Amino acid sequence: MTVRVIFWTGAPEMEVPMSDYTSQEKSWRTATQLVRGGTARSSFEETSEAIFLTSGYVYPSAEEAETAFKGDKKRYIYSRYANPTLSMFEERLALLEGTRYCVSTSTGMSSVFAALASQLKSGDRVVASRALFGSCLYIIADQLPKFGIETELVDGTDYAAWEKALSKPANVVFLETPSNPCLEIIDIPKIADLAHKAGAKLVVDNVFATPVLQKPIDLGADIVIYSATKHIDGQGRTLGGAILTNDDEFIEDHLTPWMRHTGPALSPFNAWVLLKGLETLTVRVRQHCENALKVATFLEGHPKIERTLYPGLESHPQFALANEQMPGGSSLVAFKVKGGKPGAFAMLNGLNIIDISNNLGDTKSLITHPSTTTHQRLSDDEKSVLGISDRLVRLSVGLEDADDLIEDLDQALSKA
Ligand SMILES: *Cc1c(COP(=O)(O)O)cnc(C)c1O
Repeated sequence: MTVRVIFWTGAPEMEVPMSDYTSQEKSWRTATQLVRGGTARSSFEETSEAIFLTSGYVYPSAEEAETAFKGDKKRYIYSRYANPTLSMFEERLALLEGTRYCVSTSTGMSSVFAALASQLKSGDRVVASRALFGSCLYIIADQLPKFGIETELVDGTDYAAWEKALSKPANVVFLETPSNPCLEIIDIPKIADLAHKAGAKLVVDNVFATPVLQKPIDLGADIVIYSATKHIDGQGRTLGGAILTNDDEFIEDHLTPWMRHTGPALSPFNAWVLLKGLETLTVRVRQHCENALKVATFLEGHPKIERTLYPGLESHPQFALANEQMPGGSSLVAFKVKGGKPGAFAMLNGLNIIDISNNLGDTKSLITHPSTTTHQRLSDDEKSVLGISDRLVRLSVGLEDADDLIEDLDQALSKA
């Protein structure tokens, strides 16, 4: 047996893509960016991007370590600050979003918390839409006030309510569109305008739409957030999050020191899974939307269903706005099953293909009953304001054959 000895001749001179991405890759079209963008090949010339499972980095001399710590040479120092696999994921996602900066984090929630807590201080004011992912609502309504930050929640589709809340100065406006679980659409350019007039930065949680269907920064937002756990991985494997922006001051003065010293860094292995997920993101999202539209159309005509909410259906209360802001209805469909909770539970329990799970954006179709799971924490009044009744079900349409999903829903509904 022969053993091949590889002589490592030192890392190639690599401009560490830790912050400002100004590469020629920007001129590529989206599909090319998603397959090749951000790739930093090592001197081993690997085809697939390498996983740099390392916490630290070595220096050829004490002088170089000194220069690195002074900040005079951009290089990798410690993986809590930056890591080559994370950099590849961040640069690829930044290319897709069209922003100068992307900072990855361990989960979507650590992204939400870092984006808010890093820039807010006692005495500041936050205005947010009420229909939010449960944990985002917890941060805004329960955590921030503990640090002396005033928060106000408004009905995201009520422009007058936003106008009133933003007639007073604010520091951050936070919203999610389409919202969870009822898929309400918020007009991003209009709210961005109000936010800026009030002196606030607009932060958009763009998980449901994905960067393929909606680019909030182009629509006037300042900061966009993803749970990469959802469509970016898209195959139910890892948790991850990302914060994207063009705002130099936010990155330099707030987010970078926050990330370095509080430590919500993404694992290099998870970054690699997400990086490979980006390669197929547009293809998957397109198919998710096609399947979801077929399923929503079927559900809308079904006698056991009282109401179907899908931004790609003309019956959606904000169909025109959805159409303008988001070319594709997303992978999520919400619907109300006749017969209340027993009806909804009988349908969920009768499914053979679709799994009961609170996750979303997966290749596997997943269904959840928000009132008893994701939104269980809310009071009856809060649920009713958000339209979360016992009849409501949220379906994340996967990449199975849409006809199999329709047959599965049809047989399960016959039991409801
Ligand atoms: C899942 C989700 C989050 C949180 O992401 P995690 O990766 O689970 O931490 C935040 N916002 C929305 C809209 C989500 O769907």
